[in-house]
Amino acid sequence: MFPKKTDYDLVIVGGGLSGLAAAVAAGEKKLATLVLEKGRTLGGDGNYVEGAMGVDSTMQKDAGISIDKTELLQDELTYSHYEASAPHLKKLIDASGATIDWLQSLGVTFTKVGPQGKSWPTIHTFEGGGHAAIEKLKAKADEYGVEFATSVSAQKLLQANGHISGLAVKNEATGQYRDLRAQNVLLATGGYVDNPELIKERTPFVGRLLTVSDGKSTGDGMQLAWAAGAQHYSMGAIQYGGGAIYDRQTPPFVHMMSQLGVVATQEAILWVNERGERFVNEDVNDNMCHAGGAILTQSRVFSIFDQAAVDHLANVGLFKEVGNSPVSPDKLDKLPGEIETDLGKHASYLTKADSLEELATKLGLAKLPDTVTRYNALVDTGADTDFGKDKTYLTAVSDGPFYAVELGVGMACALGGIRVSDDNEVLNDYGYPVPGLYAAGNDAAGMLVGDTYAVTFPGSTAGYAAFSGRNAVANM
Ligand SMILES: Cc1cc2nc3c(=O)[nH]c(=O)nc-3n(C[C@H](O)[C@H](O)[C@H](O)COP(=O)(O)OP(=O)(O)OC[C@H]3O[C@@H](n4cnc5c(N)ncnc54)[C@H](O)[C@@H]3O)c2cc1C
Repeated sequence: MFPKKTDYDLVIVGGGLSGLAAAVAAGEKKLATLVLEKGRTLGGDGNYVEGAMGVDSTMQKDAGISIDKTELLQDELTYSHYEASAPHLKKLIDASGATIDWLQSLGVTFTKVGPQGKSWPTIHTFEGGGHAAIEKLKAKADEYGVEFATSVSAQKLLQANGHISGLAVKNEATGQYRDLRAQNVLLATGGYVDNPELIKERTPFVGRLLTVSDGKSTGDGMQLAWAAGAQHYSMGAIQYGGGAIYDRQTPPFVHMMSQLGVVATQEAILWVNERGERFVNEDVNDNMCHAGGAILTQSRVFSIFDQAAVDHLANVGLFKEVGNSPVSPDKLDKLPGEIETDLGKHASYLTKADSLEELATKLGLAKLPDTVTRYNALVDTGADTDFGKDKTYLTAVSDGPFYAVELGVGMACALGGIRVSDDNEVLNDYGYPVPGLYAAGNDAAGMLVGDTYAVTFPGSTAGYAAFSGRNAVANM
């Protein structure tokens, strides 16, 4: 439904995590505020978020976790090859603990804080997932009288004498348009992961990518901003979710919850490429973004394992501790059944054969038998002199039947396209603010990354969404 009024202090475009954080902050500041959400429901990808980053939160202090902020900043800048903005990153890190405390003061609860795999211990895990946090923020914004209009999208920013004066909006249910007046507009549209054309500007490998988002992050924020004179900034980074079963028929999250998905993507006994050659230390899956990058260096990737592995996984459990999987690391007792079901429906991504030669023939993996011979020799010696895999996870592939699962790469969000000031003002080609225009969340998070996102300080996009929504409003 169209909004009730036509004149606001602030219109927030996008009712996801950053938009709702901004809505509460605007309520605290008593701004006449409207949140526009193009979907029928609020929350965006914020609904699926596991945790948010913070440094020096009360929870961390209570848990005895201490992080050297300067070291963290330096680490991230080095990781980004200095393409991240040092002042912006510093502002986020410095304010992040207080942002977690602020969320808690609004009723958001967290179950634990710590690292994710080999990372800084920054991720605060939401109790009830991101959706619970979204509900708390919405309730608080309602208390402050913030107005929400769902199924209404922002289509164009309006300007008078160079200053934002409002925006044209569309009722997604009726197709009708209307102009609204606004002193300030905050873009919080979730980035561009669901826009294949924009993704192509960042990486050519679109065919192998499987989006795990809600489908609404179509880069609207950056396109609205560019049309209003914003700088076309670096396309930043895509947050790869690691290997994902390559299946164009089923939504990726279905496989993420399956035991076969865990085995093929995270256990990673042996990965080979389209020629059947090994190409990486499979322990790369300790960092899902790095795993995604490695898989994309090949034309096709297959996870290879044998019946002995299936039996071990089903009866004992994982060979390797899985850092961050929704599937329990205990016995994977559903695995044999899942394999049978998938084979029964001739799933394109799963192949079984009695011998490695037969598997190689079925999939055209010419080098597979030689690769496995070499890999098993490394397992025997206990030293991966080819790629340096941890010897604890060197597991032979020798007892047929043999299985191959084809992998693509999951992607959760894409950050970049807009340059912002440290107050989250959108900047033009000359580095000066487009007056009245702000951006937050994934729309602005290109400021934090180089060409590769990594879970080095986990929870960073959710932490940034909360921080930046609040930061923008504080500086209006
Ligand atoms: C499965 C999954 C898990 C994730 N887990 C984590 C995690 O654990 N930790 C972490 O840090 N990050 C995680 N992320 C990243 C996540 O995207 C961000 O942390 C967070 O949601 C970003 O907030 P946002 O406000 O920028 O975008 P969103 O929360 O996606 O909100 C954007 C909203 O804008 C709306 N919108 C778009 N265009 C328009 C328009 N033209 N008009 C009106 N509304 C519009 C969309 O419909 C959407 O509701 C995850 C992402 C996914 C997909």
